[in-house]
Amino acid sequence: MPELPEVETSRRGIEPYLVGNKIQYSIVRNSQLRWPVATEILHIANESVLSVKRRAKYLLIQLQHGWIIIHLGMSGSIRILAKEQLAEKHDHIDLVLADGKTLRYTDPRRFGAWLWTNDLDNCPVLFHLGPEPLSTDFNADYLYQRAKNKKTAIKPWLMDNKIVVGVGNIYANEALFAAKILPTRAAHSLTRKEIDNLVIQIKQILQCSIKQGGITLKDFLQSDGKPGYFAQQLFVYGKKGEACSHCGQLIESIKLGQRSTFFCYNCQK
Ligand SMILES: [Zn+2]
Repeated sequence: MPELPEVETSRRGIEPYLVGNKIQYSIVRNSQLRWPVATEILHIANESVLSVKRRAKYLLIQLQHGWIIIHLGMSGSIRILAKEQLAEKHDHIDLVLADGKTLRYTDPRRFGAWLWTNDLDNCPVLFHLGPEPLSTDFNADYLYQRAKNKKTAIKPWLMDNKIVVGVGNIYANEALFAAKILPTRAAHSLTRKEIDNLVIQIKQILQCSIKQGGITLKDFLQSDGKPGYFAQQLFVYGKKGEACSHCGQLIESIKLGQRSTFFCYNCQK
């Protein structure tokens, strides 16, 4: 599943091709995604692109008359085609640009979304979201206040978009390992010092991953069409039964909030 770093990588990949360009028209081959593709998107004609932003895992393409909101779902990817190419089975949407290039959206599982809004601040999919993890709004004071009285296990709690956006399963596992905190701990049991460290680790892991072009899952393509990198080093995620890189004890795995959870009992307390 594309995570925040992949979405940010996609944003950075498409931004230089879109901003200052025009979308001449769209080709929607299959409008049945997670929700039907917004009718405004079907009828785009000669719209200038003003900016390409990101909020949580949503890509936001600002046009003169509104915003296209794209979510990549489980298996969506976008890329820029330099010239016309025949669409394949899962290439559901093209945005044809004035300079002859095309933004192509591919999504085998069709859990992605292409929505439209004229009012970004009150858009239902965005307004309930917590702070961006790399913003100054996400800091130890904030997280400590929110964690007080919360008996929920820290890992599923961190993955709640209302607390902070973009900390998906991989990053929650890795950040808790880096911060030496067991994923099963109740959120309120974390000391201020642990929260300080956890915030630092979350930011570092996401920043590192964005820098390396995102952790690449099989479905993800870099926006220039090349496969992404596998550069991000994982310490616990997917490593059940392997030796912990810090202490050598075997990494364990449990289900927590229905998500695979990996940790080292020796390193994490
Ligand atoms: Zn260990």
